[in-house]
Amino acid sequence: MSKKPIIGISGSLMYDQGGMFPGYERAYVNNDYIEAVLRAGGIPLIIPVTDSEDAIQAQVNLVDGFIFSGGYDVDPELYGEEPSQKLGDICPKRDQFDAALIRAAVASGKPVLGICRGMQMLNVVFGGSLYQDLSFIEGCTIKHVQGQLPSTPTHMVDLEPGSLLHDILGDAVRANSFHHLAVKKVASGFRVTALSRDSVIEGIEMTGKAFVVGTQWHPEMMGAEHSNMQAIFNRLIAVSILSGVK
Ligand code: MN
Repeated sequence: MSKKPIIGISGSLMYDQGGMFPGYERAYVNNDYIEAVLRAGGIPLIIPVTDSEDAIQAQVNLVDGFIFSGGYDVDPELYGEEPSQKLGDICPKRDQFDAALIRAAVASGKPVLGICRGMQMLNVVFGGSLYQDLSFIEGCTIKHVQGQLPSTPTHMVDLEPGSLLHDILGDAVRANSFHHLAVKKVASGFRVTALSRDSVIEGIEMTGKAFVVGTQWHPEMMGAEHSNMQAIFNRLIAVSILSGVK
């Protein structure tokens, strides 16, 4: 039996709001990432937030592929802007960790899937920028913070022919939407491969790589009910197996 690929999932920090330990840090990921990897036949492994480059590199060496998870707004300092009044909660510790892990992950040549914040961080780490709120995008009229269950698809996303996302999903798909930030300047070396009908960037891919893909939506929240979204994780695991064969 061949070895199942290990998929490292970037962790987040939660700050206890009260109770016994106010302000106490807890390491976590949303469980849907774990379940999506397991359904795809991978072995999930949470990579916790740390500032230890040694620990980050050791974990990069250990895994066969990566998922960069969603969460906090990205600190605009990372792309040279002052914080807007519309910026939400940021977590500079997590920004620094994600940036280091993304650099090491992409350098490893192993496949990378960035989801929501994960896609935004991919873009920022390689020199792109973000809108700090959708209200700054002219013509942005679609509801991108859906008032529906996480698994419910709400707005259309069109996929660019010739891209990995198009290969997996086809010409168009209905996605969920839980973001108030969006990609502004696309990082060099990346191309836009998914757009909403109001032209918000919903997907990016790094050119010349086997699989470095970002989605602005959350396929992990849809995978249990929507096989097309689960297929993104199935592909990540398939490429992880291939890239492990040296
Ligand atoms: Mn959206």
